[in-house]
Amino acid sequence: RWPELEPRGGRSRLVVLAGPTAVGKGTVAAHIKAHHPEILLSVSATTRAPRPGEVDGEHYFFVDDAEFDRMIADDELLEYATVHNAYRYGTPRTPIEKALAQGRTVLLEIDLQGARQVREADPSATLVFLLPPSWDELVQRLVGRGTEDTAERARRLRTAKTELASQAEFDFRVVNDDIARAADEVARLAH
Ligand code: 5GP
Repeated sequence: RWPELEPRGGRSRLVVLAGPTAVGKGTVAAHIKAHHPEILLSVSATTRAPRPGEVDGEHYFFVDDAEFDRMIADDELLEYATVHNAYRYGTPRTPIEKALAQGRTVLLEIDLQGARQVREADPSATLVFLLPPSWDELVQRLVGRGTEDTAERARRLRTAKTELASQAEFDFRVVNDDIARAADEVARLAH
């Protein structure tokens, strides 16, 4: 069992879902998008190349380094970070501000560095940490998806260790034992 969390006050409709590598953030976010259409899932900009099946403007806005630099310079990003020491990812500010102004809930599926920046920008943001049922389960999932080589896996697991140590910065913790259950719990926190 993971220890209980003391909510730190974040209770706004701007909801951040973060958590360690391979915990299933993307899958949970996709489930929320499909089953809770009232919640806007933010589309990030990234400098990494699309994977097979990924659609520009839907999964990410795929941009080059020059365009990412321009977005930073023009203050178009609410937060941005280099993730896994590789590519840059950032959250476009305008769609979020528009949706919040309309009273909608907005969900950001971003990494821990980004979550911290959102908290700085908006202390009332609700920060949710997605947890694996156990450490062994996390390792199994990372190995099972087979998208990283051994060295990259080891690097991500080191990052995951430090990320798991940061849980206490979050308002809520949700265990991803079952995708639909975890997604519904996140959606409930987001209302
Ligand atoms: P992937 O390349 O596998 O789609 O995503 C890699 C990591 O980037 C994930 O941990 C994801 O949460 C994170 N990420 C995706 N979009 C953003 C973003 O806009 N900002 C930040 N800080 N991280 C992001």
